[in-house]
Amino acid sequence: MIGMLGGEHPAERECSRAGCQRDAVSAIRWRNPKIHDEHRRKTWLACAEHIEYLRDFLEARSFPLEVISLDRLATNTPSDERQA
Ligand SMILES: [Zn+2]
Repeated sequence: MIGMLGGEHPAERECSRAGCQRDAVSAIRWRNPKIHDEHRRKTWLACAEHIEYLRDFLEARSFPLEVISLDRLATNTPSDERQA
């Protein structure tokens, strides 16, 4: 289809904040110790505007988290951890 080739911003790089469709620039890898075992990680993507919002949301719940660049995420994260 025409228009499919300009894919420099795949949908999976969209910010995870509800209602936000900006391109993500960072990712937060986190887990909830009550429901995730210690090797499990969830990944949220965040645009520049929402990285602090999402991080604060998790920090308020004392969830372990790591903020990394999206480029690093793309090369280091197995596909089975990319669940929304
Ligand atoms: Zn956003």
